[in-house]
Amino acid sequence: MMNIPKGTKDVLPNDSYKWQYVEGVARDIAKRFQLKEIRTPTFEHTELFLRGVGDTTDIVTKEMYTFKDKGDRSITLKPEGTAGAVRSFIENGLANGVLPAKLYYITPAFRYERPQAGRLREFHQFGVEIFGAKGAQTDAETIMLADSLLKALGLNVKLFINSIGCKQCRAAYNKALKDFFAPHLNELCYDCKNRFEKNPLRLLDCKEETCKKINASAPSIIDYLCEDCNAHFTELRAYLDLAGIQYEIDPRIVRGLDYYTRSVFEFVSTSIGAQGTVCAGGRYDGLIEELGGNPMPAVGFAAGIERLLIVMEQTGVKIPDPAVPTVYLAGMDAECRQKAFEVATKLRLAGIIAEIDHMDRSVKAQFKYADKLGAKFVAVIGGNELSEGVMNVKSMATGESEKVAFANAVEYFFNK
Ligand SMILES: [Zn+2]
Ligand SMILES: [Zn+2]
Repeated sequence: MMNIPKGTKDVLPNDSYKWQYVEGVARDIAKRFQLKEIRTPTFEHTELFLRGVGDTTDIVTKEMYTFKDKGDRSITLKPEGTAGAVRSFIENGLANGVLPAKLYYITPAFRYERPQAGRLREFHQFGVEIFGAKGAQTDAETIMLADSLLKALGLNVKLFINSIGCKQCRAAYNKALKDFFAPHLNELCYDCKNRFEKNPLRLLDCKEETCKKINASAPSIIDYLCEDCNAHFTELRAYLDLAGIQYEIDPRIVRGLDYYTRSVFEFVSTSIGAQGTVCAGGRYDGLIEELGGNPMPAVGFAAGIERLLIVMEQTGVKIPDPAVPTVYLAGMDAECRQKAFEVATKLRLAGIIAEIDHMDRSVKAQFKYADKLGAKFVAVIGGNELSEGVMNVKSMATGESEKVAFANAVEYFFNK
């Protein structure tokens, strides 16, 4: 028997409606905020991610699916959605068009990680990118979009925000961090020893217990923000207040990616049994230039669709199955089945969800099957009904039956 590769998952027919639901809500909310979808390839030149994700990040150093294609090019399956969107934005001249560009994507992404609940090697992301606007209002709008999405999905979340400043104020902060961590260098994990030289900011989001303990008393970036960054952060908070969005400032949020500037944020599920980050993002004013475009501000976020679905399931959010038949037409014999087929055809053409027997089941077995499908009505067609030109329609909710003429079928089931 052939098996699925480790860290991947099939979405089976009885679950796919949940994916469609989450994606549908995401598309609706994106539309409400005037975002348009961008679709970029599943693989890109490896160079894009080395520059766009940052070559000190775990994603690039440990987790990318990189291979040589038959033309000897180094290719990488996208480990996240932003770099490809930025590449396309520049390459297609959108950067010279009307700004801001407000984009969203729903994409598979690939990371070679140790698989665990909610963390797969192939996973899916809903992501948002707004290019060309530098004001804190745009950061607030991005956060509000994420907030609207999570609330529409029925999740209880808490928002944490921080500012990691710009190049200028980060230089001073990096120095302060180095001064702080230097005496502890021997106690830090292997990765953090490397980060100490290359990107001390990333020492703050290490998950190792010993590092976390030391981090707790590290200096806060907020105290090192330059005047402009400080004003931007103050403005962001004012806009969040205007939007009625509650937040907490968490100076430990620095994000794993190098290209972030100023605002960073995370939404954390607060439901019992389903804690953890469900959505994260921020501003990355340095990225477009890094990838060869003219300097241009950018802000965005991404949310893992698998993670959203797990949290929704754990917190008991019920997703309606849109494919439940309005009516199941059960035919007694061959002639009646033919009539069932004919009526079902009319109903389907009118936009009504109808199902019939395909397995030569008895009427009793058809009833059982209809129940399993969750059909709202079962319409039985027997010899008597056939000669009277009617079907016997039973409501599965109330158990009540009534005769409905074949000619009135569409009218009867419309809006049921
Ligand atoms: Zn600054
Ligand atoms: Zn560490």
